Amino acid sequence: MIHLEALTYAYPNHVPIFEAFDWQAQRGEAWVVLGPSGCGKTTLLYLLAGLRQPTAGRVTIDGQPLIRPRPHTGLILQDYGLLPWATVRQNVELGLRVRLFYGPDGKHAPEDFRPDVDILPWITRLGLAAVQNQYPGQISGGQRQRTAIARTLALQPDLLLMDEPFSSLDAPTRESLQNLTLELWSEKKLTLVVVTHAIEEAAILGQKILLLSLPPNRQATVIENPGSAQVGFRDTAEYLALCRELRGRMESSA
Ligand code: ADP
Ligand code: MG
Repeated sequence: MIHLEALTYAYPNHVPIFEAFDWQAQRGEAWVVLGPSGCGKTTLLYLLAGLRQPTAGRVTIDGQPLIRPRPHTGLILQDYGLLPWATVRQNVELGLRVRLFYGPDGKHAPEDFRPDVDILPWITRLGLAAVQNQYPGQISGGQRQRTAIARTLALQPDLLLMDEPFSSLDAPTRESLQNLTLELWSEKKLTLVVVTHAIEEAAILGQKILLLSLPPNRQATVIENPGSAQVGFRDTAEYLALCRELRGRMESSA
């Protein structure tokens, strides 16, 4: 589904973050991009979202070169992007309202374009019914993140990109949202790309883990983790061994 072909990306007057970098992700896979702060994870998500353009090489999605954001890609940024003056319900509706106005292709909506505007199932599925009339400042960090997820999934993406989604949450909330993300990934048959610097998160969420190191990144290091989606993976010896391996690799590349 996603294909980076000899991708080079450099900010002006900086060492390239990616240099002739190749990587592929198939539809329906759950990927984690793991690496230390500054290695280029957020930059990669922006490239995958079509918000930045390669310096050289290209990004294709389903064989199409990505030259601008695509309607079926959902992006959840680090600070959730909620409007503080709108309720949870209004925040969940926001993406759909924007899409209704602009249409699926980013131009003004055709007269007959009506996406599914019933957001109630999403409010319920994300456990937000009780707080739907409250404002972001009145709810917990976990509820804010669930609001952002509901808003994005209501647009029915096939590709979901998340930037360090759970890093500011306490451990139990983080674990429950990681589990929820895997449930939604499997329910909605999403292709998932989660960026994180947390080893444990990579081991839990990544069926496949793309390990980045400090720039320039020239070759994709991929670690397979087929056990990740199974219930109770957190308690297995396999999980602990993988965390140890990832820690070793991150230390040796730093
Ligand atoms: P990560 O998300 O892994 O922490 P980023 O993709 O945010 O990494 O950044 C990668 C590198 O690019 C860092 O060294 C960062 O300082 C630099 N960088 C990020 N954004 C810009 C920018 N707009 N202009 C110049 N350098 C940038
Ligand atoms: Mg980042």
